[in-house]
Amino acid sequence: MENAGELISSLFALAFSIAAFVYYSNPKKSKCYDCQEVISIHKENRFSLTVNGEEHALCKKCYNKRYKQESLPAQNCFCCGKQFSTRMKILEWDVYPSPCYLCVTCNKKGESKLKTYFLLPEIFPDQFIESHTSFSNLQEYVDSSKIKISEFNDLETEEWNLFVVKTTDFDSWESMKTLALSELYRRHRKQVIEELCKSA
Ligand SMILES: [Zn+2]
Ligand SMILES: [Zn+2]
Repeated sequence: MENAGELISSLFALAFSIAAFVYYSNPKKSKCYDCQEVISIHKENRFSLTVNGEEHALCKKCYNKRYKQESLPAQNCFCCGKQFSTRMKILEWDVYPSPCYLCVTCNKKGESKLKTYFLLPEIFPDQFIESHTSFSNLQEYVDSSKIKISEFNDLETEEWNLFVVKTTDFDSWESMKTLALSELYRRHRKQVIEELCKSA
């Protein structure tokens, strides 16, 4: 068993690639993002929409609805203020509490600022641990398990999963991780947008 000091340093050194994890498994191409209808494979009926860097399919009807000038999701780029037209690609960033809409240029700048690796305590901030366990931070929570965690794979064991089930409001480690990562993802995108707008 490692001592507490070593454990802290190893937890903080654990980086995890969120890019490899979030939003890569669901099928987005076959169903319309707005109306959920299955879209035919014919090219002329398929349109697309980008949300948080992921391309989603739209049916023709929903595309037309979204891209009429008056029903554009926004009239201006959230960051640079450029006016949108129906022919411009509008990129949505789904950042809590409300989505932001960016022009292609600002979107590109934003995408380039996105990090893909995060340390474990960034993924599970104190607030997250507090609201889902009876502990106040990740270190205390991990320590209480008496399970040796020195690399990310140590969290992918049945032992850890059972501990999570017993001590949180989640039904599995997988769902705890999924929620934490999607919250992180939004938080991070929001930070990036705020920085971007300051410099625009
Ligand atoms: Zn549709
Ligand atoms: Zn812009």
